[in-house]
Amino acid sequence: MLKLADITAFFKSDVNYDIKSLDPQPSNFIEYGWAWILQSYGEFGLFLIFYFSMAVLYALGGFIFYLFDKFKLFPKKKIQITKYPSSQDIKRCIDNLVVNYLLVVLPLGVVSFPFSKFLGMNYSLPLPPAWRFCLDIFLCLIGEDFFHYWMHRFFHTPWFYKNIHKEHHYYSAPFGFTASYAHPVEVVFLGFATFAPALIIRPHFITFYSWFVIRQLDAVLTHSGYDIDLFPFNFMPYYGGTSFHDYHHKEFTCNYGSRFTYLDKFLGTYKEKSKSTPTTNKKTK
Ligand SMILES: [Zn+2]
Ligand SMILES: [Zn+2]
Repeated sequence: MLKLADITAFFKSDVNYDIKSLDPQPSNFIEYGWAWILQSYGEFGLFLIFYFSMAVLYALGGFIFYLFDKFKLFPKKKIQITKYPSSQDIKRCIDNLVVNYLLVVLPLGVVSFPFSKFLGMNYSLPLPPAWRFCLDIFLCLIGEDFFHYWMHRFFHTPWFYKNIHKEHHYYSAPFGFTASYAHPVEVVFLGFATFAPALIIRPHFITFYSWFVIRQLDAVLTHSGYDIDLFPFNFMPYYGGTSFHDYHHKEFTCNYGSRFTYLDKFLGTYKEKSKSTPTTNKKTK
C-alpha cells in the first residue's frame, strides 16, 4: 500500500532533519513535534498533514453548525431566524466542496509549496515566539481582508458576478459548510488573497500553515449564520464577523470585506441590518 512517506519522497529536500543532528535542538514539545514530523515525512509530508488538518477542521466546523441548525440550538443567536438549510442545500454544497478541495485547493497548495520555499520561508528551529506568531497572524488577517475587499468588489461587477461569483451567492442565508462554496475560478482568486499577505511578510512555515487553517475556520464562522459573542476574533475593533458577512449574502451590494468593517465604512459600502428589517430569507438572485 502506498504510504505517506513514499509520496513525500518525491519532494525530498536536501535538508537533513535528523533530530539528533539539529542545531539548535528542539526546546519544547511543539518544536519536538515539528522536528519529528520533518524527520519522519519531510517538508512535503508536513504540508500534506496541514492540508488534511485544514480540510478536517473545516468539515468539523461545518458539522458543528449543521448540528446547530438540525436541532435548532441557540435560536436566539440565529441571524436569519427562519432560514434553515434543507438536505438538498447541504448536498449541493458538499458536492462543490469536494471538487474545490481536491481539484483546486490541493493543486494550488502543491504549487505554492516550492514557491514559498523559493521566497525564503523556512522550516527551521527555533520556531517563532508566541508574540511573533500572533503578530504575523494579525497582519495576515488585515492583509487578506484588504485584498479580499477589492477582489470581492471586482466579482460584483456584472460579468464576473453573473459568470463566477453568483455561485457563492446561491445561498442567501449561509451556513457553515458554505464558506468555500464557490465557482472554482473564485477559489483561485480568493486563494490568492489568502496567500498574498504571507507573500509580503514571509512568515515561518508553522505560521504560514496555521494562517491557512485559521483563515478557513474564520470563513466557517462568518458563514455560520450564528452571531455568537464567544467567537475568537469578536474582541477585535472593526471585526464585523458573522452578522457583517451574513448581511452581504442577504443584500449583495454591501460589506465586501472578509471580516473587518473599516474598509466598507471608509469607502461607503457598509450596511447593517436595521432593527425593523424582516429576517425572513428571500432568494433574491
Ligand atoms: Zn460568503
Ligand atoms: Zn459577494
